[in-house]
Amino acid sequence: MSTAKTSPEEAVDAVSTDTPPSDSLREEYETLSDQVRKYRFAYYNEDAPLVSDAEFDQLYRRLEKLEALHPELVTNDSPTQEVGGEVSAAFAPVEHLSRMYSLEDVFSLDELDAWVKRAEASIASIAPGSKVRWLTELKIDGLAVNLLYRNGELVRAATRGDGTTGEDITHNVLTIASIPRRLQGENLPSEVEIRGEVFIPSKEFTRLNEKMVDAGKAPFANPRNAAAGSLRQKDPKVTAERPLSMYVHGIGAREGLGAASQSETYELLKAWGLPTSPYYKVLETYDEVLEFIAVNGEQRHSLAHEIDGIVVKVDDFALQRALGHTSRVPRWSVAYKYPPEEVNTKLLDIRVNVGRTGRVTPYGMMEPVKVAGSTVEMATLHNQDVVKAKGVKIGDTVVLRKAGDVIPEIVGPVVALRDGSERDFVMPTHCPSCGTELKPAKEGDVDIRCPNARSCPSQLRERVFHLAGRGAFDIEALGWEAAIALTSPAEPQTPPLTSEAGLFDLKIEDLADVRIERPKRSKGVVVGTELVPYFYTKGTAKKPSEPSANTRKLFEELEKAKSQPLWRVLVALSIRHVGPTAARALATAFGSMENIRAATEEQLAHVDGVGPTIAAALEEWFAEDWHVEIVDSWARAGVRMADERDDSQPRTLEGLTVVVTGTLPNFSRDEAKEAIITRGGKASGSVSKKTDYLVAGENAGTKLDKAESLGVPVLDEDGFRQLLENGPLDSGSADNAEDNAEDEETTP
Ligand code: NAD
Repeated sequence: MSTAKTSPEEAVDAVSTDTPPSDSLREEYETLSDQVRKYRFAYYNEDAPLVSDAEFDQLYRRLEKLEALHPELVTNDSPTQEVGGEVSAAFAPVEHLSRMYSLEDVFSLDELDAWVKRAEASIASIAPGSKVRWLTELKIDGLAVNLLYRNGELVRAATRGDGTTGEDITHNVLTIASIPRRLQGENLPSEVEIRGEVFIPSKEFTRLNEKMVDAGKAPFANPRNAAAGSLRQKDPKVTAERPLSMYVHGIGAREGLGAASQSETYELLKAWGLPTSPYYKVLETYDEVLEFIAVNGEQRHSLAHEIDGIVVKVDDFALQRALGHTSRVPRWSVAYKYPPEEVNTKLLDIRVNVGRTGRVTPYGMMEPVKVAGSTVEMATLHNQDVVKAKGVKIGDTVVLRKAGDVIPEIVGPVVALRDGSERDFVMPTHCPSCGTELKPAKEGDVDIRCPNARSCPSQLRERVFHLAGRGAFDIEALGWEAAIALTSPAEPQTPPLTSEAGLFDLKIEDLADVRIERPKRSKGVVVGTELVPYFYTKGTAKKPSEPSANTRKLFEELEKAKSQPLWRVLVALSIRHVGPTAARALATAFGSMENIRAATEEQLAHVDGVGPTIAAALEEWFAEDWHVEIVDSWARAGVRMADERDDSQPRTLEGLTVVVTGTLPNFSRDEAKEAIITRGGKASGSVSKKTDYLVAGENAGTKLDKAESLGVPVLDEDGFRQLLENGPLDSGSADNAEDNAEDEETTP
């Protein structure tokens, strides 16, 4: 629906023209202005945004660009001349003593660079020779509030409103514990306006939403909306129940304030008992500002509250005054916005997937949308309770969130955009893949499962995909599509695999006719589907169909997979709870599949890293004949079912527990673990008092902190190599080494 046709970068490049705007351009400008006003109203007055911030920002930038090209379009009431919200009739209007401004936004480091150069050039012409110090702080994603203190007493609190007039929310603000009713200290100014951001800390937000859902209410789409909605309540009792916090970040009108800079003011505000952010810094160089942006961008999700960017301010008040303001923003400050992590898109359908263990998971199919660097069109909805709790219907416009590398999440619906055509999702009663009736594994489970584990095509496909994974047989040529082609090719073909038992018996010529369905495109547009051969080339009159390069690779990799170590075979079997860690522990303890199979549940449970749940899962798994058949037929096909004890390596780590964390320059995580295990050590995943060594590479996180606090010795890669080679270098073993040396000398 967006009318924006420019990127933010293009928008700044706009150069004004002398040609009058065409009728269509005027029309576009009017439509855009109306849209921006409508979206602002929904955002500021109803605390229920209709579009994502990213979409709003794009529209707004397009508006700015049109105005830059045709300044005659600008009128006093253009949205670009206004600060934001209107004052709702639900609250008494309050005139701010001094105007509240918004901030100029930049959306890329190039734009920031240009802004900083402009600001420095202005400063150089106003105050030659002066050095700029940048006060850099987090841009809190909350709600701007103005606190008025007279002789140290909080007398009024208001929202920003249109910048001149805000809404009186004094009673509500008084319920926020971190905001003092009385300032501390001597020589308080007779009158001071203090500006800041009210927000809900991220952890509290999760808890608040859980409570809302438990009480049968719709959850908030994000902490900013939750904060705004909580503060703009008619009944302060409701506000009092909400976990609101505030950080102050500016002052407005002041009488008798003795500070010469923004940072000095923060120190003063802190001394008066006001909550200031612990995250701000005063920086001497632009490079340090860039570093601040990069570091906080990485840590964005471990901060106490949501941020949508970084605010950079000229610290010195004299320079701030000299630079001044436009009607909307100060010229001494800029907000760098991080790439958006929340966008709106259409939820086209909710489908279900039947997983490796039969678990039936609903997932949303959406109109593809770009967010946090990738295009997203699917997101899991976990189970029917989650669909219900999120309150989403098929056909809704939904808020989609993707934070960095985190899995995309459908946050909730934009209820205001519903037109009545939306429909509820109904969980199927029968497996969409094999038709078997779905059931929870045991009474009371939220998850429902397809009990037809053996021959449900969906479950088989997922298991085949899993067994080829990096943590199992590591068969790169067996990806998702190949798994489909092997287990559920287009109807009416018989699948080459009806159980993973036959995997290593596959013959290349059996795959000649396997076809799968793919979208058919004409000039890049999907116009239907077509059947295409998957494992063989299409073949022409000149060149007959033959196995594709990927298919040849698949068979080479299958051959190699036969000699993978035992733990990988165990992982490949899709036994519940048996991942690489448990599988390694089992392989080390028992050495062969036969021994594992013969072990009692008690013996299995006894193994360090296994425990009763995994032991029970193993027992259950081996009790099924068709499972045993998989193991047997793989063994018949030549898959290695026992680890030869690797005596090529000295058992230097016998009895030692070593944890590896962070990135090592020359070992992958698996290689490091393998190296520990083959030398008789235990490769553990978590640090405890029992840990003998922590090997810490780059970006080691909490494990390193824990090891240091417990006094566990920490090694880098060189130290790790020495440990592998020589074993522990404590005094005891050093003595032993000397003893051995002596032994050698005296041995005839
Ligand atoms: P803004 O959010 O870009 O920045 C200005 C505000 O940032 C200030 O008023 C201040 O309250 C706040 N702020 C947070 N931390 C700060 C700090 N450390 N120092 C100084 N100020 C700090 O501008 P705005 O005018 O408040 O709002 C515009 C933005 O709001 C848009 O860019 C958009 O992202 C969002 N918006 C969204 C919709 C929508 O429909 N989704 C509609 C309107 C506005």
